[in-house]
Amino acid sequence: MTSIERNLQGLQARMALACAQAERGVTEVSLLAVSKTFGPDAVRLAQAAGQRSFGENYVQEGVEKILALRESANAETPAIEWHCIGPLQSNKTRLVAAHFDWVQSVDRLKIAERLSEQRPDALPPLQVCLQVNVDGGATKAGVSPAELPALAAAVARLPRLKLRGLMCIPDPVEGFEAQRAVFLQARALFDRLNAEGHALDTLSMGMSDDLEAAIAAGATLVRVGRAVFGGRPARLS
Ligand SMILES: *Cc1c(COP(=O)(O)O)cnc(C)c1O
Repeated sequence: MTSIERNLQGLQARMALACAQAERGVTEVSLLAVSKTFGPDAVRLAQAAGQRSFGENYVQEGVEKILALRESANAETPAIEWHCIGPLQSNKTRLVAAHFDWVQSVDRLKIAERLSEQRPDALPPLQVCLQVNVDGGATKAGVSPAELPALAAAVARLPRLKLRGLMCIPDPVEGFEAQRAVFLQARALFDRLNAEGHALDTLSMGMSDDLEAAIAAGATLVRVGRAVFGGRPARLS
């Protein structure tokens, strides 16, 4: 067994326990393996171990990996899904629209409009989560909770995007209850949008150190890098 396979099994067990404690079904929460800074071989090992969704922060690096994996795939290789989870600049939207399946870090209408315009017709709509800044921080990425409803309404109207949910990256806090309290704010925003008529099914929150609290608060997708692939050089984390 490779260490990546062992790590994935350990994580599935951790997620299953968190689901049981939250009285949720294990199938309600899936794992996004964050492969930033790790090479195509690490992704292939995870793919061979059954992992199907991968997250990338840096557009250029992600696209290179997507192309490398596509090149080495054959008819038996299971399909994988690529999520862009990093900050998005206007000059990168075309690459993202052409190569990724999902973008979780949309926080401005201008970026969403470019992604919709640039999504190639031959591909299905780009699946989108809005990144929301739940815990304040004026300089942080993410739309503010106050501006979220208007952004969601506008993004939902774009023809080549499919609005699927919300993503958040709260600042690290100590302790399960404090972590859960922040995630519950994201959950409340998610529930409110659905009550207003959206049909969101994805709440992307929780990472290596706080996935239990995120699952307790209703996460449907947790994003984990180091606990799958091992340590990263600090500079790139
Ligand atoms: C890097 C990253 C993760 C994974 O972080 P780890 O600490 O490696 O588990 C999750 N989400 C986002 C947005 C990231 O940039």
